Amino acid sequence: MTPRVVFAVGALARVAGEVRLLGATRVLLIAGPSAAGPADTVAAGLGTALAARIDEVVMHVPQEAADAATATARAAAADVVVCVGGGSAIGLGKAVARVTGVPVVAVPTTYAGSEMTSIWGRTTDGRKITGRDPRVLPRVVVYDPELTLSLPAAVSAASGMNALAHCVEGLYAPGGSAATALIAEEGIRALATALPRVVADPADLGARTDALYGAWLAGWTLGTTGMGVHHKICHVLGGSYGLPHAAVHSAVLPYATAFNAGHARDALARAARALRARDAATGLWELARAIGAPTALADLGFEPGQAGPAADLVCAGEPVNPRPVDPAGVRELLLAACAGDRPVPPT
Ligand code: NAD
Repeated sequence: MTPRVVFAVGALARVAGEVRLLGATRVLLIAGPSAAGPADTVAAGLGTALAARIDEVVMHVPQEAADAATATARAAAADVVVCVGGGSAIGLGKAVARVTGVPVVAVPTTYAGSEMTSIWGRTTDGRKITGRDPRVLPRVVVYDPELTLSLPAAVSAASGMNALAHCVEGLYAPGGSAATALIAEEGIRALATALPRVVADPADLGARTDALYGAWLAGWTLGTTGMGVHHKICHVLGGSYGLPHAAVHSAVLPYATAFNAGHARDALARAARALRARDAATGLWELARAIGAPTALADLGFEPGQAGPAADLVCAGEPVNPRPVDPAGVRELLLAACAGDRPVPPT
């Protein structure tokens, strides 16, 4: 199952109508400060159907925030959650849906892709856990490229690399199919051509539209396949080391791709073709450099001495991955990502 998708410039104006189509009459609206303007527009369109509003969101859904949002939904007798924002706002809405069963309408403003998946996440005592539950898969996703115009160039670049990671791993992930590969490859192509234009001119609506299109395909890929060692590493570095989600994806992706190069040749040849690069790992690294996205974990505060313990945590999660995963190999991958030098292409 995938959500109903509305994709158009100006689609924000259609959110209230989508809520009515679901038959819902009491809306919990969730949007952090960066999405306050669009959320005000949604609130005005909802009129008396707006039952409650949450204006604060925190990355990785702390348990206390999830509990408070669920209590707010219950007190307001909400029968739908509308989330406007990045993965953090959508993650909070999913936390409410997981407990109450109310449907989610997602209005994404980054390229993270959570809106297209049934994956939920929650952080308790510094440990992030995730799982899949069909109840959290948004029923409707409204993509409006205008909402991304305010996303700063640096955040756009890192978030775009996050989306690329879904596509790259989707090419070899468990659960993939010929259809997934087509969509993932098209997502890489769209993102790789749009992101340099977005960064050169964040107000270019055409580039924003192309990038959000790529992000939609990336989210679809993430939602319909499993993922590999790259996503497991990012999960550990975000949840247990507190590193920023999208930036970590950017810094790790070229090295996770180089790690898998000899074990997923056909899949990564498709990625290289979409990137118009000689090999996928180098192409991703060069793209990240060109758009100013992070390429070194050291720049994000990760230290070489943390590579060993982090590798142990990654391996404890038993990622399914083309190349068999062991602590020594993952440690080496993390040390390469820490340094951020040009990845070594496969021979
Ligand atoms: P985010 O939602 O925290 O947004 C990043 C930053 O950008 C924030 O400071 C936010 O306020 C700002 N921002 C967002 N949209 C903006 C806009 N249009 N203009 C200006 N500023 C804007 O981060 P994210 O990278 O979108 O999401 C990360 C979170 O989502 C993580 O917790 C991650 O685990 C989760 N995630 C979950 C899934 C899933 O399938 N469950 C998929 C991807 C990410």
